[in-house]
Amino acid sequence: MSHPGAGRFAPSPTSDLHLGNLRTALLAWLWARAEQRPFLMRIEDLDQQRVAAAPAVAQQQLDDLRTLGLDWDGAVARQSERIPLYREAAAQLETYECFCTRREIAEASQAPNGGPGAPDWRPYPGTCAALSSTQRAERRLTRTPAIRVRASAADFTIHDVHAGAVTGQVDDFVLFRADGTPAYNLAVVVDDGLQGVTQVVRGDDLLDSAPRQAWLASVLGYPVPQYVHVSLALNGEGRRLAKRDGAVTLTDLVSAGQSPAAVLRLLCRSAGLPEADRAPEVLAALSPGQLDNPTVWTPWTVS
Ligand code: GLU
Repeated sequence: MSHPGAGRFAPSPTSDLHLGNLRTALLAWLWARAEQRPFLMRIEDLDQQRVAAAPAVAQQQLDDLRTLGLDWDGAVARQSERIPLYREAAAQLETYECFCTRREIAEASQAPNGGPGAPDWRPYPGTCAALSSTQRAERRLTRTPAIRVRASAADFTIHDVHAGAVTGQVDDFVLFRADGTPAYNLAVVVDDGLQGVTQVVRGDDLLDSAPRQAWLASVLGYPVPQYVHVSLALNGEGRRLAKRDGAVTLTDLVSAGQSPAAVLRLLCRSAGLPEADRAPEVLAALSPGQLDNPTVWTPWTVS
């Protein structure tokens, strides 16, 4: 059956993709291609401070994906080139200026409630929600505000293919940081909405963010995508795999004498998928329902 909506992979070009990222990319590609969906590639390069070397890192990420046999439809989208679209979308929302520092928010909010970014995430307590225009003018003299959406403590439930119904509180989250940079939660929703993405396959560290994003999508009139949050790769200590954990990128592994085909086979094994040398051969060997197997949802410890 052919689906009108696209799938996508959206790496942040902070460093080379490690085995966990490559596994997520493979799964996102397989989920889309197995359902004859278009597959889009989007570089999430809004954080210019953290991604100073973004063009070179992004190019390496794309090269690594191609080496494994992944492909995508159309041009690669770059969030840094789409900023006017985020501003247009935000103009449709009810927003307010927020002058709080992180510390003030931490001091004013209740105990962490296990929401997005748990265990430390606290919903924004609404400190700046009801400032008068005089108070705002006064605060503007000393601080540049961030912009928050007025969500009025909505709850939103998403349906994840594996996790099922997940309900999350939607606080008045940031849309633009004080330096004017659009926030990830805004950009991701606007991009998925405008690019016709209806299937979001990504790491399960983002499951907690999905209710807020889905809420925003619905307020902006975009369809809420199908969510497939897959498990992350962990290091030997049970922590999320990172580049510092040794030879974990394709470049590292190839330098250590492994072939890209062997790396792809390793990814396939880690996810209970048929092993092959290139992604299209994995796709061809998939049987119905095979992407939805327990190994995909079990954290993968890379030893
Ligand atoms: N750019 C995010 C990351 O690299 C992924 C965002 C998403 O898939 O929604 O973790």
